[in-house]
Amino acid sequence: MSTLFIVSTPIGNLEDITLRAIRILKEVDLILCEDTRETKKLLDKYEISKQLLSYNAHATDARHTEVIELLREGKNIALVSDAGTPTISDPGSMIVARAREALGDELSIVPIPGPSALLSALAASGFPASDFLFLGFLPHKKGRETLFKEIAASERTVVFYESPHRFEKALLQLSAVAVGRRICVARELTKLFEEVKVGTVEEISAYYTENPDKMRGEFVVVVSSI
Ligand code: SAM
Repeated sequence: MSTLFIVSTPIGNLEDITLRAIRILKEVDLILCEDTRETKKLLDKYEISKQLLSYNAHATDARHTEVIELLREGKNIALVSDAGTPTISDPGSMIVARAREALGDELSIVPIPGPSALLSALAASGFPASDFLFLGFLPHKKGRETLFKEIAASERTVVFYESPHRFEKALLQLSAVAVGRRICVARELTKLFEEVKVGTVEEISAYYTENPDKMRGEFVVVVSSI
């Protein structure tokens, strides 16, 4: 019986990895990763030398078949992404689903929990967090405005990811529909320039207008429930 481990890795600070994750990365036969250069930085830090096989959002049918055959032969494989938990706004769900379908009970699928930007941001926001909605990356165009209206009307805390070049636009769109609403912007979590700002959408927009240099890096936006 082989095992496919879904291993969470750091979202910035390379110390944020569990002892179990390090052990699994050392023990498996190979590691499926998004970008071999990113994963190598982590492996070098922990002196792990392991065969890497690329698995990203463009993984072909042939790559899926290859991985399933390796598992069928009894190889143990770890799946990682560039940061955080694989499959969460990252590649991975397809290989998990296809491997399970192909191998059934011959395969164990084992998650190795660890960092995810959405949970760290939610925890730091201080907003109600026992019932929340995670939207991942918002659509760039189609449906975007409607989604902001839904966020504004939500009785649940809402969390979403945004890229730096769409972050400003997101704040503008949110300001238009969620007047006075408290939001949290968690930027560069666990990294040198980590910053968590909490305030009304107007206060946060004013802060970023006054500090355009802070409009870079990685962002999670959390919108408090009504
Ligand atoms: N799988 C990852 C996870 O578990 O969080 C998410 C990967 S997704 C491709 C990348 C997005 O996650 C970024 O654009 C940003 O919204 C968020 N993110 C990842 N790392 C972050 C960090 N250190 N600080 C703030 N946001 C981060």
